[in-house]
Amino acid sequence: MKVGFAGLGIMGTPMALNLLRGGHEVTVWNRTEAACASLVAEGAHQAATPAALAAANDVTFAMLADPAAALAVATGAGGIVDGLAGGRGYIDMSTVDPGTSGRIAGAVAARGGRFLEAPVSGSRQPAEQGRLVIMAAGDRGLYEDAGPLLDLLGMHRLFLGAAGNAARMKLAVNQVMGCMMAALAEGLDLARGAGLEGAQLLEVLDAGALANPMFRGKGPRMLAGDFAVAFPLKHMAKDLRLAREMAGVAGLDQAVGAAAAAAFAQSLAAGDGDLDFSAVLRSPGPG
Ligand code: NAP
Repeated sequence: MKVGFAGLGIMGTPMALNLLRGGHEVTVWNRTEAACASLVAEGAHQAATPAALAAANDVTFAMLADPAAALAVATGAGGIVDGLAGGRGYIDMSTVDPGTSGRIAGAVAARGGRFLEAPVSGSRQPAEQGRLVIMAAGDRGLYEDAGPLLDLLGMHRLFLGAAGNAARMKLAVNQVMGCMMAALAEGLDLARGAGLEGAQLLEVLDAGALANPMFRGKGPRMLAGDFAVAFPLKHMAKDLRLAREMAGVAGLDQAVGAAAAAAFAQSLAAGDGDLDFSAVLRSPGPG
């Protein structure tokens, strides 16, 4: 299948590479052109604009930073939508709010294309290993047709119905993750502030019912002050902000989600947005 990929950041680059290594003819586009070079060296083609990318391929994927980027690349002048016709598919895997996804879905449908939103759970390493968890919603036929492509990117996928639902699910998932990370950071601060060893807190957590791969992977690096980026803090701050909006729409007053959103917003304001989201440890907390 001829496959397009827009957005070659931390996630998009290994995802596009997995599609290429899966035997597909892949064309890439990125706002900053230099990011295309490594994929072109592996045999990918390069498109001049998102519209040209979509027009040249059966299915085009995107993995973009945030709602503004997703809208600009899909619906801006020379955007993906301009290149879609004749039932071509657009699969947006960026983490955005349901309203943004709905606007893109509407624009794609008006053009005669097919749209799937498919945000993912899993970071740089699962993206490299093709072991993401894919939450999909929108055009069921496109979900089926693109199944072999999605299976090159992820180890688990589920279809959640109408466009908007996968965006909602992803924000609920990341609210859990953001709260867990903020809780780990505060737990480490609390233990160390009380004169205990952070490493021993991690040992106790990992030995019992609170053990999880995120604490196990990130915890020791946090203690070492290693915040090399896998999931940028600025994106977690964005996701928790969007989750707050979603809670507002649902009429929910959620103190824990609000506190986590405030903690990440503070870290972002402190200039830590391009570090890993575990760098929330570096800020003293929103209180
Ligand atoms: P990233 O490394 O920051 O890459 C962002 C991509 O978006 C880059 O290709 C960037 O292009 C592009 N972009 C940003 N603003 C743009 C604009 N206005 N117009 C066009 N392109 C624009 O982000 P990432 O970590 O790969 O994450 C991508 C998406 O996946 C985000 O929605 C994030 O929340 C989600 N996600 C990330 C992870 C993770 O662990 N990293 C996990 C799950 C989901 P340039 O190169 O030109 O800047």
